Amino acid sequence: MKGPETLMEFMEMYKTEEDCRRALFEHRWPAGFRCPRCGHDRSYAHKKRPLFQCVACRHQSSATAGTIFEGTRTDLKKWFLAIYLLAQTKKPISSAELSRQLGVAPFTAWSMRRKITRAMARKEGELMLAGVVEMDEAYVGGASKGKRGRGASGKTPVAVMARQNESGGCSLAHIQVTHDISGLSLGDAATSHVTPGSIVATDGWPAYGKLGRLGFDHQPLVMEGVENPAELLPWVHITVSNLKRWILDVFHGVSAKHLRSYLDEFCYRYNRRRQRTDLFRRILNRCVLYAEPVTYTQLTAC
Ligand SMILES: [Zn+2]
Repeated sequence: MKGPETLMEFMEMYKTEEDCRRALFEHRWPAGFRCPRCGHDRSYAHKKRPLFQCVACRHQSSATAGTIFEGTRTDLKKWFLAIYLLAQTKKPISSAELSRQLGVAPFTAWSMRRKITRAMARKEGELMLAGVVEMDEAYVGGASKGKRGRGASGKTPVAVMARQNESGGCSLAHIQVTHDISGLSLGDAATSHVTPGSIVATDGWPAYGKLGRLGFDHQPLVMEGVENPAELLPWVHITVSNLKRWILDVFHGVSAKHLRSYLDEFCYRYNRRRQRTDLFRRILNRCVLYAEPVTYTQLTAC
């Protein structure tokens, strides 16, 4: 089924709680009900509550159990509208604006936004980079104007990897918070985002020397004679400047504590910038299938 492309279509499709619940059911069990405990495919519908009881093992489940919507006291209609606004607006909506648009408390809006963007986080092995990949490290966030580049104070180190495509552009990019910019941390970042055997181009930072031993075709580029270091690795620099501009524009800065969540959202959007159709249904699908319920403590821990 096609997703809504306009607000009018959205309002027609999800008029009631029941419409939203049906949509969650369809995402969770596209081929019909399947008991999460025993795999049986028949259930009784509970008369008063939106529950399905397995005919074989009597386990009760619902379309929201095990998803970010589990136990929510907020209407599903509001959740759906939040996902729609996050998916369809070119400039992503902030939680303060979400609070105003949905008529929910600021903390509720913040928590909803965080849970939805958590579902945007890249899964292990998803969108691996291959071919020619630029890699660099950068420092993001922090209010202090410490020295720039390696060792900047008050900022969080991130590893940036961008795949060059055949026409000289950039198709995909990933940015990950790293503990530091040691060979171990940068090697871990490369291993989890880049397919072994790929060409990985970096600057001459010695920590990248480890990449060859990790199965990559490491190509350190020489800075000599190059006035602007951004020329050596253009796409990682463009990605990082886009990220910094986006953070300022949408959030007016971020704290180190929440940086990972903002990076996940930025990369999700960046990597789908040319295929924006049906983003609502794609994000809804991730909320149902790929994001587990999270507590407040888990949300604020990263
Ligand atoms: Zn069962």
